[in-house]
Amino acid sequence: MSATRSTAPGATRTCPHCRATVLERAVKCPQCQKHLRFDPNANTKTVETVSPFRVEGTIQPPDGETWEYNLLVVVRNAKGEEVARQLVEVGALPPGEQRTFALAVEVLPSSRR
Ligand SMILES: [Zn+2]
Repeated sequence: MSATRSTAPGATRTCPHCRATVLERAVKCPQCQKHLRFDPNANTKTVETVSPFRVEGTIQPPDGETWEYNLLVVVRNAKGEEVARQLVEVGALPPGEQRTFALAVEVLPSSRR
C-alpha cells in the first residue's frame, strides 16, 4: 500500500475508481476495467496478464420451476485449506430464464530484475 515501485509478490492496493482490492502491479483494474496508472513509465513496464484457467457454464431451471442460486468462489492452497471464500451474487431464475457464469484466473508473470 506504499508508494514504492518495488513491490512484493501479492502486494495490493485499492482501485481509486471502484475501491476493489487489486494487485499493486496491475495496470488495469480487473473489476471495473479502468486504468490504474497514468505515469509515463507505465507503458514500458506494462505487465501482460495471462489466463491459465477459465471456465464458463450456463444454467436454466426445468420447465415450470424457479431456481434460486448462490454464486460462491472458494480458493484453496496445496494442502486443501481455504484461503478465500467469497459469495459473489445471489439471485433467482424464473422459468425460461438462464444465467451464464464465467470464472477466469488471471496471472501476472513475475517481474525479472
Ligand atoms: Zn476498479
